[in-house]
Parts: sequence; structure tokens; C-alpha cells
Amino acid sequence: MSTPDKPIRTQQPVSYHAGRAMFTADHELYRRSVARFIADRIAPFHADWENAGLVPREVWREAGNAGLLLPGIPETYGGGGGDFLYSAIVVEEIARAMVTGVTGFTTHSENVAPYLLEFGTQAQKAELLPKMASGDIVGALAMTEPGAGSDLKAIRTSATRTDGGFLLNGQKTFITNGYHADRVLVFAKADPDAGARGISLFCVDTTAPGFSRGRLLDKLGQRAQDTAELFFDNVFVPDDMLVGELNAGFGYAMSGLVRERLLIALRCATALEVSLEWTVDYVKQRRAFDRPLIDNQFIRFRLAEIKTHACATRAFVDSCLAQYLDSTLTADGAAMAKLWASEATRDIDDLLQFFGGYGYMREYPIARAYTDVRPNRIYGGSSEIMREVIARAL
Ligand SMILES: Cc1cc2nc3c(=O)[nH]c(=O)nc-3n(C[C@H](O)[C@H](O)[C@H](O)COP(=O)(O)OP(=O)(O)OC[C@H]3O[C@@H](n4cnc5c(N)ncnc54)[C@H](O)[C@@H]3O)c2cc1C
Repeated sequence: MSTPDKPIRTQQPVSYHAGRAMFTADHELYRRSVARFIADRIAPFHADWENAGLVPREVWREAGNAGLLLPGIPETYGGGGGDFLYSAIVVEEIARAMVTGVTGFTTHSENVAPYLLEFGTQAQKAELLPKMASGDIVGALAMTEPGAGSDLKAIRTSATRTDGGFLLNGQKTFITNGYHADRVLVFAKADPDAGARGISLFCVDTTAPGFSRGRLLDKLGQRAQDTAELFFDNVFVPDDMLVGELNAGFGYAMSGLVRERLLIALRCATALEVSLEWTVDYVKQRRAFDRPLIDNQFIRFRLAEIKTHACATRAFVDSCLAQYLDSTLTADGAAMAKLWASEATRDIDDLLQFFGGYGYMREYPIARAYTDVRPNRIYGGSSEIMREVIARAL
């Protein structure tokens, strides 16, 4: 019998780094540095920040120094100059450590910065991106309003022409980084009668007169992530802070969603894997009725199903990631990735169950996973909207 070149695996790993050939040694080096920064500078303080309802502003600058912000933006604009896998790594490591208070790093780096890079003027990019990369400026993205979430074309925030620019009036809600934001990319209507074709994208300086923030919203989970309402009362936005073409904002929003949904899918795949790992460790050491919990067939069979589910989720999401790297991932493909992976995190409910009462205590990360992973089925387009996007392409 010939000897195999490689040792034969005896166990299918669930772990996020196993067998993901698209990640090179350089990517893995970056992953380790991100994980180290999170372990040293974020995780030990996260519970205190949850009580405060936000992370301290200095954390943004530290993260900028450590290379966690704008990893995929070209170096000429102060970014990391990496490919999309660097962006994926930051998202995955935040999920792996379940430090959801810095979910807003992703909004800042992967939503706000790419809109500026792709559609902004040279002056906007040169002024804003380096400061965003260093963490000196925090960015937010404001689409949702009290009366319009899933249906972006129904937004009512208006942008009225005035000398040298526009006057913005209206209200936004559920805005990630809303409390810390120095610049907000705001979707508003310059032509209120044109529906989706009347929407434009504006970069608002939050020191401008007429801009104000509401209270920090009291969320079920992600308690250290600042999320706020924003108000616009005749806020002047100069012409040079229109992002891209007038009335082209709806198309910009749609183009950003493939990337956003894929990143949400990657986050959810990692959250499910890591929740399973914590649970397997726990049920191996926790004893009841004179034996470890894992010796109960019900528990081991359910964990076997969840491991299968987690591995299938990873395989599917990584295949979408490979398509994205090839520029072949379609809108319905990204919607399937998000729908599948975010719905798969429903398994976390059963994983929490196997921790008994400890699972309900926030000091146990499984409790945070239960509450903090939940909005992934809502934002970036809800599961219902994902079904609609997929169905339209049948
Ligand atoms: C933690 C958090 C952070 C967020 N961060 C941001 C942010 O940074 N920026 C931002 O702009 N927004 C943000 N949002 C808002 C988020 O994108 C919206 O909540 C989401 O798009 C849904 O909109 P809605 O809440 O108005 O729900 P609605 O649109 O009112 O929907 C309510 C329910 O009806 C369902 N529904 C709607 N239309 C249909 C349909 N056609 N068919 C079937 N079902 C339908 C929805 O799926 C949902 O279940 C955030 C939300 C949360 C929870």
C-alpha cells in the first residue's frame, strides 16, 4: 500500500481557517494581527463598553493604526491596499471574538469608503479616505427612515437646491456609527416626484448647522455598537459634497448591496462556527447525571446536525466569495448567501440551550451570539427581501 503524501484527516474541522485555499500566507498573517488587536485592545473592555452603549472614540484611532480600517482601499488613499479577502478577514475576526461593538468598523470600511472610492470626486477621496483609514474620521451610511426601510424609494428626506448646494431636511433612523460619525453618506431626494430616480447621495459633515443626533438607541443586542437617529433641519451641503451624479443614488445603493450581503454572510458563517466550537467544548466538560452532557444522544445528534449545517454554510458562502473575487457573483447569488447564512444562525438558539442557565448570562459569549447575530436577518435587506430578490431571478 502506498503511503499518502498528507496525513489523513480523522475529523472534519469546523474551524474558519480550515482548507480555505484562497487565503494566502499573507492573508493569514494579517488575520493573526487582526485577531491579536481584538484580543488585546477590544475584547477585555467590551463588557464595559456594552454598559456604556458605545466604544470609546480612541478605539477607532487605535484600530486605524493597527490597519483594521479600510483594508481594501488603495494605499494612495491611506488604505491597506489589500484585496477583498482582507475585508473578509476583519469581518470574520470581529464575529469570531463576538465583539459586536465594533461592527461599525465594517460599515465605515466596507460601505462608506467604497461609495466614496467608486463614485466620489478626486477631492472627496483625497480629503476623506486617509482620515477614515486612520480613524480620525468615522463614517456612517444613512438610508433607513422611520417610514421607509426595505423600500428605499419611499424615503422622504429631501435635498432642495439652493445657492452653491442643497438644503437637506428629514430624519434617518437605526444608523450604525450614528453617534460617533463625523461624516454621513445620506440618501435623499432632490426630485421628490421621481421615485427611485430622484434619489441622490450626499456627504454630510456632522458639524454643519441643522444636523443633530437623537439618543443612542436601546437595542436588544450589539449593545456596545452606537446606533442612532439623525435629524436634518435645513442642513447645507455644498455642491462639492454631492457624491456621484445627481439622481443616481438608487443605483449606487443597489451596486453596494452585493458586497454588503456577502460580508454579512461571511460574518454569519463564522458566528455559527464559533458558537458551535464553544458549545462542543462546554458539553464535553459539563457533567449531569454522572456523565458529560455530550454523552446524551439527543445533544450529540443535534450538535452533529449543526456541524453539518455549519460546514455546508461555509462551503456555500466561500463559493460565493470565490465568485465575488472573480467578479461573477450576481445580486441573487449574494442574496442567497445572506439568506442562507443568516437563517443558519437560528441554530445558535439550540446551542445556547445546551449551556443551560449559563447560556442566558451575557458573560458567556453564546448569550451575546444569540442576541447580537440576530439583526443580520434584518439589515442589509431582510430575509423576506432576500427571497424576493432570489425569486425575481428564477
Ligand atoms: C442593528 C441595526 C443596524 C442598522 N444599521 C443601519 C445603517 O447603518 N444604515 C441604515 O440606513 N439602516 C440601518 N439599519 C436599518 C435596516 O437596514 C432596516 O431595519 C431594514 O432595512 C428593514 O427596514 P425596516 O426596519 O423599516 O422594516 P420594514 O421595511 O418596515 O419591514 C418590516 C417587515 O416586513 C417585511 N417586508 C417588507 N417588505 C416586504 C415585502 N415586499 N415582502 C415581504 N415582506 C416584506 C420585512 O422583511 C420585515 O420583516 C439597521 C438596523 C438594525 C437593526
